[in-house]
Amino acid sequence: MLTDSEIVNAIHQMRAMFPEAGTTLKADTTFHFLLATILSAQSTDKSVNMVTPPLFARYPTPESLASAEPEDIEPFIQSLGLYHNKAKYLVKAAQGIVTNFNGEVPHTMKELTSLAGVGRKVANVVLAECFNIPAFPVDTHVSRVARRLGMVKPNATVLQIEKRLKEAVPKDEWLDAHHAMIFFGRYQCTAKNPKCTKCPLLPICKYGRDNVF
Ligand code: SF4
Repeated sequence: MLTDSEIVNAIHQMRAMFPEAGTTLKADTTFHFLLATILSAQSTDKSVNMVTPPLFARYPTPESLASAEPEDIEPFIQSLGLYHNKAKYLVKAAQGIVTNFNGEVPHTMKELTSLAGVGRKVANVVLAECFNIPAFPVDTHVSRVARRLGMVKPNATVLQIEKRLKEAVPKDEWLDAHHAMIFFGRYQCTAKNPKCTKCPLLPICKYGRDNVF
């Protein structure tokens, strides 16, 4: 298992490889960013960005979306996986915002996760990206990279991964580290055929060495 400083050094190398790493979801308001993040479950940011402009134009506010039916939303998002459920989540989340939070997206983990379709990862993304509150969202890329590199045990849960990374990485680097790990997972340490032979982290990566040799 990597030590704290080895984890930080590895993430700094990822950051150096992908200095442009940042959120790739496009949205004009916090409310729309929340919707985009809900839609991104099991879908790429690119595919979400393709469907959101007309959706956002039609439903500019929580109030406008809260009075819609899920069937109204489905045509906008039917190119995404799980679109039946996602349509329900969007409407219910908007209703929750209107009913419980005066039409404003809340900014605590507890309040955010009370909304339909909002789990810990979505809440962490919104807290960090929209409210500048330190958070370390753990998605599929962050999980895979952390496990392969031995930052955590191979069977570590998402919550254990988040806890370990928060322990090791200084708080003011959490969001940058999250972005760097996502880009590294998306383009270098890919789920299938990771580019281990050209990876600067190969010397500290047993998974990679087993894969290469
Ligand atoms: Fe991922 Fe391979 Fe690099 Fe290890 S060596 S971090 S498995 S790309």
